[in-house]
Amino acid sequence: MVARLGVPGTGARQDGDPALSRIAKLVAAGEATHRLELAQVTGLSRSSVHAHVRRLVDAGLLSADEAVAGGRGRPALRLSLSGAAGVVLIADIAAFRVRCVVADLTQRVLADRSLAWQVADGPERTVALLAEQFTELLAEAGVPAGRPRVLVVGLPGPVDVARGIPVRPPIMPGWDGFPVADRLAAELDCPVLVDNDVNLMALGEARTVPPEQLPVFFVTVGAGIGAGLVLADGTLHRGADGAAGDIGHIWSPGAEDVVCNCGKVGCVEAVASTAAMARRTAPGADAEGEGAAMDAFLARLRDGAPDALQIVRAAGTALGEVIALCIHMLNPRRVVVGGDVVEASDHLLSEVRGVVYRRALPLATRELSIAHTVLGRDASMVGAMVLGIEHLLSPTEVGRFLQGTRHDR
Ligand SMILES: [Zn+2]
Repeated sequence: MVARLGVPGTGARQDGDPALSRIAKLVAAGEATHRLELAQVTGLSRSSVHAHVRRLVDAGLLSADEAVAGGRGRPALRLSLSGAAGVVLIADIAAFRVRCVVADLTQRVLADRSLAWQVADGPERTVALLAEQFTELLAEAGVPAGRPRVLVVGLPGPVDVARGIPVRPPIMPGWDGFPVADRLAAELDCPVLVDNDVNLMALGEARTVPPEQLPVFFVTVGAGIGAGLVLADGTLHRGADGAAGDIGHIWSPGAEDVVCNCGKVGCVEAVASTAAMARRTAPGADAEGEGAAMDAFLARLRDGAPDALQIVRAAGTALGEVIALCIHMLNPRRVVVGGDVVEASDHLLSEVRGVVYRRALPLATRELSIAHTVLGRDASMVGAMVLGIEHLLSPTEVGRFLQGTRHDR
């Protein structure tokens, strides 16, 4: 499965090479694959398009193959993005594991490795781990040292995307304000994008399902509860500060006596996350024991243990109320509920569906689907890949590519 890449609008930023970036993105997205089409879509003259395309092909960002001749005259050149023109490094960091992926510009995965890891071990050790892992993986995949690259990091907490730092992440002790992007840029000598993991999941999912199914509201249930929203035009809605979708800390009736990781009481995450469900069956587990407690709970759920099913149904009711509220606000076409607990049993999703259809207005639910993720555990990886490729095709990076210059910090 290959995710769609975005087609640029006419943004205000004019640094780098906007026209060349636009052509590269149109070709990458499959929106225009011949020079004539590019002239029609961009409104540029044919001679400008020819000159731009020649620069991109000569530099190796695009490749041109002779297409089958459709009529008389010379066959049109079919343009495509050259996979080898760059690599996207992806670090998908969850509470209890890290996944490192290397992919090329055609979304082909060149290397993929998952490790057990405690995010609570802190940022210094995690940065060292990622630097070591990517050095190994790039060598393993045979990626030459000078190839343009970008690292996309997904974190299980709120992120200041502009500065690339986590902001008071409840389940990531020691990470608040740590300069993740700057530190990793120094280690790996490439631009680094940091985003919330659920935003990446939402983006991956939204660029994979048919475009008619947007907006996509993606909710994930794991150690915490979070959500990401991808708008009808395929872009992520991060909000003014990057806090959009942090639905785990919405007040949930009946949870007033439960203290949340964020320090408040009454958050839906404190009663409906997988960690909260596991705590009901194995109270008193510390941060290290929490992952094991969650695994044990999921195993009981898969076995159909009645107490586990009852806990999941209660969690589904609480979560359904919050999702119904979000549907009133956002009117998505597709709500996706992801996470191990949803894969382990249908009860959470069916409970959420029941509450939403009972609560939400008919207009908002008429064509709404509430579904499993189509990408499963790959959702955040695919979203990160989309973000990374689109970054490498940005005006600044395309300009740099044509000049053959490296990323400067
Ligand atoms: Zn909270």
